[in-house]
Amino acid sequence: MLVAGAILTSGGDDTAGGDRAQAHAPLGSPAPLDPTAEAASDDDVRGIPLREEDLDDPTDADETDGVDEADEFCTSEVTDAIATGDPEAVVVAAGGGEAFRDGVVAGRASRCIALNHPAWDWVVVNKQRPVEPIDYAPDVIAPATYSPIGAHLDPAAAAALDAMVDAARDAGAGDIGLESGYRSYDTQTDSYNAQVGLRGSIAEADLTSARPGYSEHQLGLAADLVACDGASCGTMYEFGASPQGAWVADNAWRYGWIVRYEAHTTGTTGYEAEPWHLRYVGVELATAYAEGGYDTYEEFWELPAAPEY
Ligand SMILES: [Zn+2]
Repeated sequence: MLVAGAILTSGGDDTAGGDRAQAHAPLGSPAPLDPTAEAASDDDVRGIPLREEDLDDPTDADETDGVDEADEFCTSEVTDAIATGDPEAVVVAAGGGEAFRDGVVAGRASRCIALNHPAWDWVVVNKQRPVEPIDYAPDVIAPATYSPIGAHLDPAAAAALDAMVDAARDAGAGDIGLESGYRSYDTQTDSYNAQVGLRGSIAEADLTSARPGYSEHQLGLAADLVACDGASCGTMYEFGASPQGAWVADNAWRYGWIVRYEAHTTGTTGYEAEPWHLRYVGVELATAYAEGGYDTYEEFWELPAAPEY
């Protein structure tokens, strides 16, 4: 996605049927929005004003004391890239995926980068980090990739999905379809409630579906994939064992995607294994994630585990 400014947040999830889930009564009221989250400047990121309160104050001496100039993260190159709204350019300006990550986790990036603005590709959403604002709705498009339900994605994520799907086909892994992409807050309410009905309890539903406002699907940056043969596609649950699923597990990072909920990471993510749920983070960060051998996005950013709400 193209953005202009810098901030982020996130949550995982997945539900069978995605946008096709039947309607149910909505959950309780969403968390109130922060009334101070007004435009701090004329800039915004995908329609969301820059929220400078999310960033450290550069005039605060405590934030700058002891920071060696050579250690400075928010250089003019980085802030210029932020102004372009292109997240990949920001990461490149910071020295690449690994350097960007290192700067964020060390706290050196806190004056220009935050992980809770929904419009930047690095945003983190999990059970402890809702989408901010909770009713955030990005601009999305239909990718060229076949989708049985006509799912949409963030434009950069859509292009990256198309490139990955083409590469998988060229590699002989077979066709891949998009089962579910962007889901609005209201659609996620329906999806989650459908899972509560299917699984029989809140606790069981929480292992497979995000509560509204806590889903990466609301960012337009998550894609649930299925293996297809022409227009005939399997289910999400069959994807991990398919040739397409195996290829994606090995190669998705090359196209800017990570498998967000791997096996045996429920203690960190709060979700069961979902080999079909991919999260777009951009090629630079996905490369750093793969090369660093990370299993969860929480570990990548050195954030606390978020197994529960
Ligand atoms: Zn999903």
